[in-house]
Amino acid sequence: IYILGIESSCDDTSASVICNGKVLSNVIANQEVHSKYGGVVPELASRAHQQNIVPVVQQALVQAKVDKKQLSAIAFTKGPGLMGSLLVGTSFAKSLAMGLQIPLIDVNHMQAHILAHFIEDDTKAPPFPFICLTISGGHTQIVKVTNHFKMEVLGETIDDAVGEAFDKSAKILGLPYPGGPLIDKYAKLGNPKAYPFTKPKVGDLQFSFSGLKTGVLYFIQKQLKLNPNFIKENLNDICASIQYTIVEILMDKLKNAVKQTNIKHIAIAGGVSANSEIRNHLQLAEKHFGWSTYIPKFEYTTDNAAMIAITGYLKYLNKTYADNSVTAKARLKVTE
Ligand code: ATP
Ligand code: FE
Repeated sequence: IYILGIESSCDDTSASVICNGKVLSNVIANQEVHSKYGGVVPELASRAHQQNIVPVVQQALVQAKVDKKQLSAIAFTKGPGLMGSLLVGTSFAKSLAMGLQIPLIDVNHMQAHILAHFIEDDTKAPPFPFICLTISGGHTQIVKVTNHFKMEVLGETIDDAVGEAFDKSAKILGLPYPGGPLIDKYAKLGNPKAYPFTKPKVGDLQFSFSGLKTGVLYFIQKQLKLNPNFIKENLNDICASIQYTIVEILMDKLKNAVKQTNIKHIAIAGGVSANSEIRNHLQLAEKHFGWSTYIPKFEYTTDNAAMIAITGYLKYLNKTYADNSVTAKARLKVTE
């Protein structure tokens, strides 16, 4: 069974071909245009998707050595995401499926981030039920996953997503978008306890990151008045301290979730699960708390079409197809 997956929810155009759940290709075209604006510009994103989609799909087929006539179905991201971006992938997938007369499968992007754990070696995938901490550019959720398609949100952020906390803090430090990976990089050389930032007081399974962002802003402004070179001279320590605070918040909430559910199979998913510190802490939790932890392969953390294709494959096995009236949805819950 060959599935073509197409992802275009935000600023990456991606296409992937998988065969019986094994990835044959996973092509990702990043959009450089946004870095100088400090965030994704929706209008530029959808225009770039229009330019990228045909060559990216073509390259995915060529790399997989699969002819489009061999495809069993086409899976695409229905939402959540930027409307203009989603529409490009949705209309492309619809017309291609119609032309080839094969099933069309709509995929929920947030489910796909979680189901990325089932790519390739599914003996290493988390057993049900498991807890997934989904941490991305737009979401921060603790999800109880009962089976591939039964998911329940136990808690989530009341304001910013954790990816935004990384990116906005990075912006305050003058780093380009997306700043998350850069904070990770500089933090490796810094002292995580150099500058204490306060953790928010919210419900046991809730998150809040807007206060941290403001805390970083005020702290930096104050320090810059005393020393205009403060950022330059202390970048590693600042990044390490911000990252340490964020990872502590995430780990605290996971501990609460384990306490409440008694489930000790813990996975992470989404772009921020690429972060080396959260990966380290999760691994340590195996030893310290007796959890079994599941960390996605680095290339399947940030947006990619392989996760869309694997979700499409699982839905294909269930014969859950979309009909041709399906439309993109900018807002879509992980449970929908
Ligand atoms: P969503 O999936 O919620 O719709 P998205 O698709 O925009 O949002 P992802 O692609 O899953 O988000 O993740 C992107 C986010 O991950 C960005 O905020 C980016 O800074 C962050 N990120 C990527 N790598 C790292 C890293 N190593 N450390 C911290 N953050 C990171
Ligand atoms: Fe995403």
